[in-house]
Amino acid sequence: MSEPLVIVGNGMAATRLVDELTARVPGRYAITVVGEEPSLAYNRVLLSSLLAREIDERDLELKPRSWWEERRVSVVTGRQAAGIDTRRKLVRLRGGTQLAFAKLVLATGSEPIRLPLPGADLAGVMTFRTRTDVAAMLLRASGKMRAVVIGGGLLGLEAAYGLKQAGVEVTVVHLMDRLMERQLDARSAAMLKSVLQARGIEVLLNAESVAVQGRRKVGGLRLADGRVLDCDLVVMAAGIRPRAGLARLADIAVNRGIVVDDQLRTSAADVYAIGECAEHRGVCYGLVDPAYEQAHVLARHLAGEEARYEGSLLATNLKVSGVGVFSAGDFLGADGCEPILLTDPEHGIYRKVVVKDGRIAGAVLLGDTGDALWYLDLIRSGEPISAMREGLVFGRAFCEASPIQSHQPQAEAA
Ligand SMILES: Cc1cc2nc3c(=O)[nH]c(=O)nc-3n(C[C@H](O)[C@H](O)[C@H](O)COP(=O)(O)OP(=O)(O)OC[C@H]3O[C@@H](n4cnc5c(N)ncnc54)[C@H](O)[C@@H]3O)c2cc1C
Repeated sequence: MSEPLVIVGNGMAATRLVDELTARVPGRYAITVVGEEPSLAYNRVLLSSLLAREIDERDLELKPRSWWEERRVSVVTGRQAAGIDTRRKLVRLRGGTQLAFAKLVLATGSEPIRLPLPGADLAGVMTFRTRTDVAAMLLRASGKMRAVVIGGGLLGLEAAYGLKQAGVEVTVVHLMDRLMERQLDARSAAMLKSVLQARGIEVLLNAESVAVQGRRKVGGLRLADGRVLDCDLVVMAAGIRPRAGLARLADIAVNRGIVVDDQLRTSAADVYAIGECAEHRGVCYGLVDPAYEQAHVLARHLAGEEARYEGSLLATNLKVSGVGVFSAGDFLGADGCEPILLTDPEHGIYRKVVVKDGRIAGAVLLGDTGDALWYLDLIRSGEPISAMREGLVFGRAFCEASPIQSHQPQAEAA
């Protein structure tokens, strides 16, 4: 008989887990997925493209309804799991239903941090996490609107780009001295800022938001230095927090996220956590690749195989407001590292490869990210690069085509 397996959260990690588990051990588990969002799981990464009107709603679909049906997975949408009884092995849904489980997987993702500013509850203050958030922004977006996005990280810049594409006048307000400080060094961040400004997105750095102004709806955002930015819309994109409340209520160990071991087990027997809600070896990841790697390991574990998750290499490879950005590993270059740079500000191209002990420790690419996966493989494999060191920063085609000659252009040692 199939063992009842309940997954709370119908997001990207949950979908990948179902995909891998049903392929490995079809019929072994009777799977129920519970999700509070009204639709089937969708590709959250594409929300920025939806906001920019580059795709439509149908393009978000991860798997069609028939796919879930063929695997006999019962999907409950629009219902929130409100409690877990770890002793009796029951999940309680808001509204009363209880689901019994032999194994439970928490895949509840993250929530956007809503800064507790005065005026944060005014109409027109929004976040950027779900398709409902995008629908709300698109409903308001029009040529006469002015928006301020709080946060110059990945999500903030994506929101700014989408709104700009919808014809809205946009200013990004960022607390730090550079954009995307988790992925970019000072020079690449400065180049990205110039590219965004050339595309009509205003960027204010070292700018602290202190209050949203307005009577019933947003009229402006006040900064700590006294400036007031007139606007009709404020998008808070200043970080995310793992959704660990359900686990905490059930006395499951939670630090920042739900604490898991190398088999993705929580502190409660037969309860697992994957994706952005999980904290593994002190790290909560905010990207989809680590969520997929965790889903892969858990699928193998639940299928009875030996499997171990040892953490993910932090890598970002995406388009930010239409600009290619890749960053991986130790891209800043800790002591003992040697950064090699190639910059072409006129064409918005920046390459930095950080070398340590004859291997690549990290890299940043801006503008042209065509070689991103090649650099990522070299970082992951730890392959010695001495033989191609001088040509490394010029990319794969250059290294593979030509043995380095002394008259060839020299990369700049930082
Ligand atoms: C706009 C945007 C752009 C992004 N771009 C990128 C990108 O370019 N590259 C990248 O790597 N990552 C990107 N990400 C991050 C990526 O989407 C996440 O890493 C990924 O979705 C994590 O998957 P998850 O399953 O852990 O969480 P989610 O996909 O968020 O799924 C969790 C689901 O659980 C539901 N849930 C939570 N609690 C309950 C409950 N109690 N009961 C029922 N359901 C519940 C939530 O409503 C949600 O539907 C982006 C995110 C956003 C918002």
